[in-house]
Amino acid sequence: MVVARVFGKSSPEAIQRENDRLAALQQFDLLDTPRDEGFERIVRLIKQIFSVDIGIVSLIDAHRQWYKACSGLSADEVSLEDTFCRCVVDCDEPVIVQDATKDFRFLKHPSVTGEEHIRFYAGVPLRTKAGHMIGTVCAIDRLPRSFGNRDLGILEELAGAAMDRIELMQSAATDGLTEAMTRRAFKQEADQLISLALRHQHDLSCIVFDIDHFKQVNDTHGHAAGDEVLRAVASICRSTLRVGDLFGRIGGEEFAIVLPHVDRDGAVAVAEKLRAAIASQPIVGDHGALKVTASLGTSALSIVSKDIETLLAQADAAMYQAKHGGRNRCVSWSAIHADHAIGARRRVLKAGSIMFNERRSTIDCTVKSIGSESAGLSVSNTTGIPPEFILAIKGEGFETNCRVISQDRQHLEVAFR
Ligand code: GH3
Ligand code: MG
Ligand code: MG
Repeated sequence: MVVARVFGKSSPEAIQRENDRLAALQQFDLLDTPRDEGFERIVRLIKQIFSVDIGIVSLIDAHRQWYKACSGLSADEVSLEDTFCRCVVDCDEPVIVQDATKDFRFLKHPSVTGEEHIRFYAGVPLRTKAGHMIGTVCAIDRLPRSFGNRDLGILEELAGAAMDRIELMQSAATDGLTEAMTRRAFKQEADQLISLALRHQHDLSCIVFDIDHFKQVNDTHGHAAGDEVLRAVASICRSTLRVGDLFGRIGGEEFAIVLPHVDRDGAVAVAEKLRAAIASQPIVGDHGALKVTASLGTSALSIVSKDIETLLAQADAAMYQAKHGGRNRCVSWSAIHADHAIGARRRVLKAGSIMFNERRSTIDCTVKSIGSESAGLSVSNTTGIPPEFILAIKGEGFETNCRVISQDRQHLEVAFR
């Protein structure tokens, strides 16, 4: 069932707090970033110290809990509606459930009544220095347990260590696995190149690409093979690109490129070259020879796209169109523009509501990018969302009719009507 919190039920203060929280989360720009050993260590420690089955360090956006690190569960993320951590967000303080079957808030929860058999939960806020809660750190077990003040103190220390690591990571320039630039470093350098391009009036363009069906690589051949593929794809890209191009890893299996002195058509040509190189080179390792493909989106500097956030948002939307069109292909933002008359967009992180069925059905979403005519939305599952609906942004009084342009499992590209 997809019906979520009823829009308008939260107080203005709670909506403001949620918006401030999301703004802080966006500043760190950590959602969907690659696996990191520092956080893996923290979740291992949680399991060892408390002798529990599950340890989690998570970040929470408007509709989902995304695991920065998780040991003991197979998912990468879960709809916020279905989590115990939702309570930590709502009350903005630690939540301890010693025996879920005796706690009225959780005794009918599917993870308590179902196969997962969760009994114990302790979750504390992952809090920035400014006091915003961007996620949680939790210990979870399948047996009831007691959890005293000393235990709570230790869990809070671990949350502090996770936050310290997040702060520290802000200064990292390269990604350890692929040696591509980190998302933050990439964006900083990209903005400098953009300033130069604007000042000297030369072209600049951007490519975003995402490996196709990468989950299958991990599921079939294991995580180590997945890592090998990522390293190999990064290496193929580096050998295809020029020295002055910027190459960053902006997500788990998502990369971005800035091409100075390259115009819209040039970017499509480079993207096509990358696509062909990735598709044609088998990646050889312990797993045998693997072939992967990628979907690519391109965008270019223009009067309406003069910063890296906008260029990435446009290339991202084009990339989703490439996925939608069958994968292993390149789509230029200009093509979407011509087809759907869509203007510029910025990357944001806002809490939204998708309403349909005469407003009787409401689904929480995270607005990832928005312009005057269109938006990119993330949801836990697009199944059941109709081709036309109302989008509202919480706390901003923004409400508009939308038409779906393209979608995949968890993402919707919409045009306003
Ligand atoms: P699509 O074609 O729609 O992009 O499908 P997909 O399977 O690639 O997309 P999805 O986003 O569902 O899966 C991405 C997977 O990438 C999930 C995640 O576990 C995996 N992943 C993310 N970072 C890493 C990493 O550093 N190493 C490995 N091995 N896997 C990673
Ligand atoms: Mg992806
Ligand atoms: Mg993918």
